[in-house]
Amino acid sequence: MGKIFPVIYMEKCNNCFLCMDLCKNNVFAERNDRIYIANPAGCSLDCCMCQKQCPMGAIEIIIANDKEE
Ligand code: SF4
Ligand code: SF4
Repeated sequence: MGKIFPVIYMEKCNNCFLCMDLCKNNVFAERNDRIYIANPAGCSLDCCMCQKQCPMGAIEIIIANDKEE
């Protein structure tokens, strides 16, 4: 099972903070009036709300395989 976490493409983001309001796991936070990903490990696979709801299409949920050696 891989890790899942969101990425924000800041060149698309308009800092509306909708994702911060939506995320039930407090993955996003605000700093100096800009959104950032404060808690990537909190993201859960069954959600994807932020990616679906972002008005700018600025969020991608990444699923990374972390193969143990
Ligand atoms: S919902 Fe999208 S546009 Fe709004 S702050 Fe989050 S990433 Fe940026
Ligand atoms: S996919 Fe869900 S849990 Fe993960 S950051 Fe987005 S809103 Fe939060």
